Amino acid sequence: MQIVNPATEEIIKELKEDDEQSLNRKFKELKSAQQDWQRVPLGERIDFLRKFSQLLKKNIESLASVLTSEVGKPLQQSRNEINGACARIQWLTDNASKYLSDEVMIHEQSLTEKIVYEPLGVIGNISAWNYPYLVGVNVFVPALLAGNAVMYKPSEYSILTGLEIEKLLNEAGIPQNVFHVAVGGRGVGEILLNLPMDGYFFTGSYKTGKYIYGKVAPKMVPCQCELGGKDPLYVADDVADIKSVAAGTADGAFYNNGQSCCAVERIYVHEKIYDKYVDEFVKEVQSWKIGSPFEKGVYFGPLSRREQIKFLQIQVDEAIQKGAKVLLGGQAVSGKGFYFQPTVLTNVNHSMSVMREESFGPVIGIMKVKNDAEAIELMKDTEYGLTASVYSSDQNHAETILQQINTGTGYWNCCDRVSASVPWSGRNHSGFGATLSHAGLRAFTKPKAYHLKG
Ligand code: NAD
Repeated sequence: MQIVNPATEEIIKELKEDDEQSLNRKFKELKSAQQDWQRVPLGERIDFLRKFSQLLKKNIESLASVLTSEVGKPLQQSRNEINGACARIQWLTDNASKYLSDEVMIHEQSLTEKIVYEPLGVIGNISAWNYPYLVGVNVFVPALLAGNAVMYKPSEYSILTGLEIEKLLNEAGIPQNVFHVAVGGRGVGEILLNLPMDGYFFTGSYKTGKYIYGKVAPKMVPCQCELGGKDPLYVADDVADIKSVAAGTADGAFYNNGQSCCAVERIYVHEKIYDKYVDEFVKEVQSWKIGSPFEKGVYFGPLSRREQIKFLQIQVDEAIQKGAKVLLGGQAVSGKGFYFQPTVLTNVNHSMSVMREESFGPVIGIMKVKNDAEAIELMKDTEYGLTASVYSSDQNHAETILQQINTGTGYWNCCDRVSASVPWSGRNHSGFGATLSHAGLRAFTKPKAYHLKG
């Protein structure tokens, strides 16, 4: 398979894809090595993953460069991602003993009841390309800490990064057969679904997640899906500083070219402050530079996938045809590379796909609302349920709104952020199950109850 640089359209590497035979071999190796890995004391497993984090930091410049060359995100954003992954590893390694060690629940004279967190076995991790370090770390780090072996399938758009991760895990001391990379695209993913994994952890689109969940169901093993979103953001009339709210929320919509599962995908603004907000929002986006992702100061690189340009164009054209007003952008950038202009639409409504279907690109619709009640109704009008955000000077006001929105995460005066100390989870078409936090550490275990008398 060919790895293409999305900024230049040059082929940067050719790789041999895995096939059924090589994946069978890798699976057998993982299955047998997992037994020994499970017996390595937890403290030692923690040390290996801390070492891995140190290696990420040590090699950050070369790793960021590989990431930028294959997914096209600006170099500084690649560095930010790797640093973010290290912060997550720190939380997970600092808290692994607390949440993965045996728990004695009752200890009386002749009775002890305890929980032992046993690993699932071999994990199949089918992953996305938009944040390969972050979404990868969410799964393979707690899985390894809990004593599992991992078959990691990076997306076909971020394989070079997947191979770098494998190299550094081995260098950190993780035995070679405890972590394998499956190289390839959809076909390789299909082969993994046919192997007898002990658990499947998927990050990607709703369409693929739905398919994978259905395929895995008869196996009766855990299957967790972290999927897309159409995350709403509401700016209430009582925000203190409209200019800074506009700047912060524009970043939430456009960081990583909008290719984040928790990117702000639709904005509702109270009519009292709407004009000023939109004006500041557009000014902020206009101040950001488009260009080569390797150039300093560039905020918008190319999209990672060529086919996304067509998808965005259809979404924008449909909105225009139904009456949307284009304040910025609206089409692909001509020339080499998969570039799409940052696009701001107003006069939008929920009959348009741009307000209902995940865009996953630099396109945002901003809609004026009369009051909180209208904003809540529109925020709720979605099949997705990943995050929702409210900007207001009153925490109570914001929390009262967030309680009514069925999402895994609620944000007050912030957006597009993930923290390792709290669960990362979706609802409805955004998936189910949690990574990160104590829930994400224990997601890779089977709790076994012991009733001990005597
Ligand atoms: P995708 O669904 O196209 O692909 C994801 C992975 O599934 C890839 O590795 C791909 O090769 C594999 N795959 C595709 N078809 C398959 C099949 N039939 N059988 C087995 N494997 C198959 O998604 P993507 O484009 O890589 O990622 C973008 C999507 O991921 C967006 O919807 C985004 O919101 C979502 N995402 C969610 C989170 C989250 O934490 N909730 C994080 C990042 C990305």
